[in-house]
Amino acid sequence: MTLLSIDDLVVEHRSPGRPVVRAVAGASLTVGPGEVVGLVGESGCGKSTLARAVCGLDPITEGSITFDGEPVTPLGLRRRRLTGIQMVFQDPYASLNPRRRVGDQIADGLRTVRDTATAPADLLERVGLPREFAGRHPHEFSGGQRQRIAIARALAARPRLLIGDEPISALDASAQSQVARLMRDLAVESGAGLLFISHDLSVVRLIADRIAVMYLGRIVEVGDTAEVWADPRHPYTRALLRAVPKPDGLGVLPAELPGDVPDPANPPGGCRFHPRCPLVMDMCREKDPDFGPVACWLHDQR
Ligand code: SF4
Repeated sequence: MTLLSIDDLVVEHRSPGRPVVRAVAGASLTVGPGEVVGLVGESGCGKSTLARAVCGLDPITEGSITFDGEPVTPLGLRRRRLTGIQMVFQDPYASLNPRRRVGDQIADGLRTVRDTATAPADLLERVGLPREFAGRHPHEFSGGQRQRIAIARALAARPRLLIGDEPISALDASAQSQVARLMRDLAVESGAGLLFISHDLSVVRLIADRIAVMYLGRIVEVGDTAEVWADPRHPYTRALLRAVPKPDGLGVLPAELPGDVPDPANPPGGCRFHPRCPLVMDMCREKDPDFGPVACWLHDQR
């Protein structure tokens, strides 16, 4: 059974006087109930734009997104809370209102689903925080604690799909795997799907049932986590597995690859990865390997 289905999704960004940027350029992906899918790739590859489109925050240019069989369309904040999709953002300092007590912010979600039986403090307990934190303000907490509060707030609306958009990249190392595992446990125990977006494959490996690897707006490899980890088949996936996290926590450096991710406003022809690929062949410059689960001419189309 499929909860979320993304089919050949294209999302373009347009601004006056500038070239059109195809941030997502034909990506397909599914998430089932109780399934954890990790979406990985370098900064600027289109992961966050894909997440925003799933939440109805960015309009779809081509392709489709369906959630529970219904098409996802751009929505205002109030209606978005009712869709069953909740997002946990990267920056736990910006995502909470500094002037409101955290219990009041969690109560907003409970009201959305008319849940009068659950108290905000109950949800704080579920994310491993003391009940009395409900009466405090965000500035009284560490980054890891704030991200737990953001997760509690997301859970209050009883989502059937939880999306984490780099939810651990602003946290210190000790909090990263704790928060990632917490999101997994809470999603799975409630039967919700989790789309967990990260540049860090090593953390995704800990929690995801399947991994999808994104490069320049496309999913280039998707498969069971253990299989991808043991036998990465796309040259980009292999490079990511050997990648070194940047000290600023904002991305990864696939050390063996030349150059950066190309400008999505002017992507290379043929295989989008060919200028950086150590295994590039003549046909890669001409023909786009537009198929899955491994988008590479070195692998069979299935
Ligand atoms: Fe490399 Fe060619 Fe495969 Fe692209 S299609 S990843 S350039 S070998």
